[in-house]
Amino acid sequence: MRILSRSFVVPILPIFVALVVYASAGRADVPEEMTPLLLDMQDAPVPFMGSDGRVHLVYELWVTNFSSGDVVVEKVEVLGDGDVLQSLDAAAIAGRLQAAGQRESAGTLAPSVQALLFLHVTLEPGATIPRLLSHRITMHVNAAPAGHQEMSESGGGVPVDRKPVVLIGPPLLGAGYVSADSCCDASRHTRAALPVNGHVWLAQRFAVDWEQLDAQGRIYAGDREKLESYTIFGKPVIAVADAVVASVTDGLPEQTPGKYPSNISLDQSDGNSIILDLGEHRYAMYAHMQRGSIQVRVGETVKMGRLLGLVGNSGNSVAPHLHFQVTDRSSSLAANGLPYEMRHFQIAGRTPGTKAFDEAEEKGTPLAVTPSTSAPQVKGAMPLDQLIISFGNQ
Ligand SMILES: [Zn+2]
Repeated sequence: MRILSRSFVVPILPIFVALVVYASAGRADVPEEMTPLLLDMQDAPVPFMGSDGRVHLVYELWVTNFSSGDVVVEKVEVLGDGDVLQSLDAAAIAGRLQAAGQRESAGTLAPSVQALLFLHVTLEPGATIPRLLSHRITMHVNAAPAGHQEMSESGGGVPVDRKPVVLIGPPLLGAGYVSADSCCDASRHTRAALPVNGHVWLAQRFAVDWEQLDAQGRIYAGDREKLESYTIFGKPVIAVADAVVASVTDGLPEQTPGKYPSNISLDQSDGNSIILDLGEHRYAMYAHMQRGSIQVRVGETVKMGRLLGLVGNSGNSVAPHLHFQVTDRSSSLAANGLPYEMRHFQIAGRTPGTKAFDEAEEKGTPLAVTPSTSAPQVKGAMPLDQLIISFGNQ
């Protein structure tokens, strides 16, 4: 957590007495107000199509409490070109506001604390994508004088980034795959904000942990600690696009499934892994592959669908799975996660959610999948969280 100097904060207390000062002649006619929260945005959201047919905006609002007391964030409105797109109440905020470096969320910010508000806005099908996002925050400011503690402020304005979303093929072949911890509210990837080389990166913002179910709906059958018990173990991993191989790591051992690996260094956490350069500053990363299975070399050009290697359980992995993400740099840490859209896949069903998925992965029990009634074919969208996906025979 970033702590500002307390000696610097204390003299600010009296500022809340003079709440509004109107700008003098010759300057913009905007009232100047004390704003106890600093609002900032590091990475502008890139809108993309989700497998639910809606456009999604996923980003983080950086919030710093610059007052000398607690601030309770009571309401956050997201505005798109001035219109309210989303309104979060205190309970929703408490589930999405995380102080820097923390994994727990809370709606109250202690003085000097910086936090990230993890936002996920969806637009109705056919709705116009806004050009500019801004935020209106209602709060209770403990440091303000009695009678002036209920305050609101606006800020955190940022243009929506309309860079083209990369269109990719599937990373795997076949059916029964689960898009675990995919976009947009599963916290393990979406909220993995990591300070690396003096900057905070969210490389996993749109990552997926692909798992696979057997015919009985199980992630594994038999011995939990055997790699071969897992449905996905050894399945072919393929190139999602025509690309140049930017990075290869191989030679790292498989972990024993069901056990949290210890003493994994940062540079070994992805295990055996590949980064493909898709062009236009977009990179696809595949992690935790089988030792010795990688079929490509750095600098090699690959075609979409080319076999890259096999699903394994190397690196920081508790069960065989394929971690897949797209970022803006050729790194799995010092990079920012970008959305992508997949050319074609089929939604065969959905799981009851992350909690049920975690239990099925732990116990090897069948997941209570709700089959899709129409088994929709999806074209040009991101597979959202906890869906059962078929990639066909591409
Ligand atoms: Zn992952």
